[in-house]
Amino acid sequence: FRHGEASEVVVPTPNGDVYFGEHHPIVVVAGPCSVENEAMIVETAKRVKAAGAKFLRGGAYKPRTSPYAFQGYGESALDLLAAAREATGLGIVTELMDAADLSAVARTADIIQIGARNMHNFSLLKKVGAQDKPVLLKRGMSATIDEWLMAAEYILASGNPNVILCERGIRTFDGKYARNTLDLSVLPVLRSLTHLPIMIDPSHGTGRSEYVPSMAMAAIAAGTDALMIEVHPNPAKALSDGPQSLTPDKFDRLVQEMSIIGKVV
Ligand code: PEP
Ligand code: MN
Repeated sequence: FRHGEASEVVVPTPNGDVYFGEHHPIVVVAGPCSVENEAMIVETAKRVKAAGAKFLRGGAYKPRTSPYAFQGYGESALDLLAAAREATGLGIVTELMDAADLSAVARTADIIQIGARNMHNFSLLKKVGAQDKPVLLKRGMSATIDEWLMAAEYILASGNPNVILCERGIRTFDGKYARNTLDLSVLPVLRSLTHLPIMIDPSHGTGRSEYVPSMAMAAIAAGTDALMIEVHPNPAKALSDGPQSLTPDKFDRLVQEMSIIGKVV
């Protein structure tokens, strides 16, 4: 159990070091679910940067429920993320699904995301624990807090101290109106159990863009260290997760509202 101070995770980006942790401003990670083409990722990067995000997110390797759904553009999407990083100086957050892609993902990413579906993939956790890039560990969709913390422990025990925990909604009995149940009670609970920084993802947590702002505000009120928010220039045309994606205009407005109740930038 927790003893001692909150730890901070410091992530170097072209725009400077970004600090995640209880004693730092709220870090916002924003961008599309999937990287679709150069114009959309660079445009989105510029818009989310102007709004106050410090990191651009975008999937190159996508863990889709159906094997027939869009799977992500893989390595070529990593190159487009690198171009967006070059254009804006934003840090990059992107998901690693397969250890075979680790060196390519680690070359592009400033933070490597381990998705909900791989939270229990212990061999993958050991591999990201044995390299240097910080890791964003999403909560498995049916993972208990202890299982999630033990997954983090796999990374820490393999030698990488830079782990950020991300709540992205869990499966409960009613998935009709929201995709998942966003468990904001993890904020006070994790504070008592771990020193690691905590991020909340209201986009996957609700699955509906109209519910994202209120849950983002609630996460700030409950003390989150960071937020992950999906933003797409044209959500209706998105190749994945359009219904939960904010437009750049709506994201900009949300960050302004968030800044009233928390220190965002
Ligand atoms: C994502 O971030 O796009 C994603 C697939 O998230 P999760 O692993 O939380 O479903
Ligand atoms: Mn997504």
